[in-house]
Amino acid sequence: MALNFLANQDQPSRSGRTLDMIDPALGIAFDTIPQSDASDIDEAVSAAQACWTGSWQKTSAAERGRLLMAWSRAVHAHVDELAALEQKDCGKPTKQALADANALVRYLEFYAGAADKLMGETIPYQNGYSVLTWREPHGVTGHIVPWNYPMQIFGRCVGGALAAGNVCVVKPAEDACLSLLRVAQLGREVGLPAGALNIVCGLGHEVGDALVRHPGIEHISFTGSPTVGTLIQQVAAQRHCPVTLELGGKSPQIVFADADLDAAIPVVVNAIVQNAGQTCSAGSRLLIERSIYEPLLARLATVFSGLRAGAPAMDLDLGPLIRASQLERVQAFLKQAEADGIATVATGKVVAEAPVTGYFQAPVLLRDVPLQHRLAQEEVFGPVLSAMPFDDEAQAVEQANATQFGLVAGIWTRDGSRQFRMAKQVRSGQVFINNYGAGGGVELPFGGVKSSGHGREKGFEALYGFTTLKTVAFHHG
Ligand code: NAD
Repeated sequence: MALNFLANQDQPSRSGRTLDMIDPALGIAFDTIPQSDASDIDEAVSAAQACWTGSWQKTSAAERGRLLMAWSRAVHAHVDELAALEQKDCGKPTKQALADANALVRYLEFYAGAADKLMGETIPYQNGYSVLTWREPHGVTGHIVPWNYPMQIFGRCVGGALAAGNVCVVKPAEDACLSLLRVAQLGREVGLPAGALNIVCGLGHEVGDALVRHPGIEHISFTGSPTVGTLIQQVAAQRHCPVTLELGGKSPQIVFADADLDAAIPVVVNAIVQNAGQTCSAGSRLLIERSIYEPLLARLATVFSGLRAGAPAMDLDLGPLIRASQLERVQAFLKQAEADGIATVATGKVVAEAPVTGYFQAPVLLRDVPLQHRLAQEEVFGPVLSAMPFDDEAQAVEQANATQFGLVAGIWTRDGSRQFRMAKQVRSGQVFINNYGAGGGVELPFGGVKSSGHGREKGFEALYGFTTLKTVAFHHG
């Protein structure tokens, strides 16, 4: 039975209620987590406030950095154990689970190094004045983490928040908590003070909602669906609590006729297959210049036909989707595509050895998807790639920008001037030229425009979101 992590104690929910954890590869329950409620959030926020006013506010930036570095090393020493937990929880193939555990190591390491490098400015002002800006932590921060990359998303938000001097209350996804609870224990072992990090498990509309409503929470970072992001923003607005929202995307991979296709193809495929397509920055739309549309689709068909989904321990191209409802959702998209006459170019396989009760979905490549179709507009969150042709640069830009989202874009061309023109015109938070970073890049500021959200996580930029700027003007004559 997994337990909440409050003030460095492992404890059940106050009500004693639990939720089953389902193994997505088998479709059966294997553990339970606490089904917490608002009273558990109250306790977590009180513990965080006590830590904040007690010791954490007085902990120097250098000391916070040392703690984060020690935590990073402890996580590094346990990557296999943590990867195994996340693999069981989320159904990730071994290489993906290990990559995620190692990304957490890097996040903690990066923010350990950044902790004592967050500086304000001096501002030239009138004669007789000196003006300084200080970057001050918010205090008690709330973090709502989804199930697709628990360790990575925890690393980027909690690592940044603690480095900047905040304390944290985390609500992990009900589908995937186990790795984070173990990571918290490792933090306790290296000396994270009681209350600096608290993890409260439970349902989004109960415990997540209670976290967002709590008057003691002074900043919220949320990664998840646009629908819940909108709700959170509305609730937080009532008490003017700042929020950082990362709400996914429908990210385009734009391939021009002069691109190095040998380099592009494996990256384009991986960007939709990684984590079974359950990646906010998945490259889920493929825009191809018409003159290479057919030959590129033919080459991709060969690759897609060879892709295999199976049990996580088999370490194939993809594991199961997270839960039955996610599989139903992806299949509903595919049924609609079929009903609307959208052609399938190629489909991978679910291997025969995959447990029949697991939530497996073979990768699918669709072609000529109309720009306004759901498959070209909505986040499927599964291994489904929608291809469409474009005639020129202007149309590529128009198609790239024609969704409500704007998270990441990939541009494949050897023409240097076009690389710049496209990067400037595509509306998204990140643009990758002749590469693509679905989920990668601890150092790279990450976040969206439009319905993909606002605020930036990852990199040094995240620290600005986890702090508030105070301007101090001295009149000294
Ligand atoms: P979700 O938005 O419902 O859940 C994400 C997190 O928010 C979870 O921790 C959940 O418990 C919490 N939550 C849910 N309702 C809440 C509420 N009312 N108040 C506070 N917290 C709440 O996402 P989901 O149902 O797990 O997935 C649905 C869809 O969301 C997916 O198909 C996908 O399109 C998208 N999604 C995107 C990302 C991303 O990285 N951008 C991650 C997960 C899901």
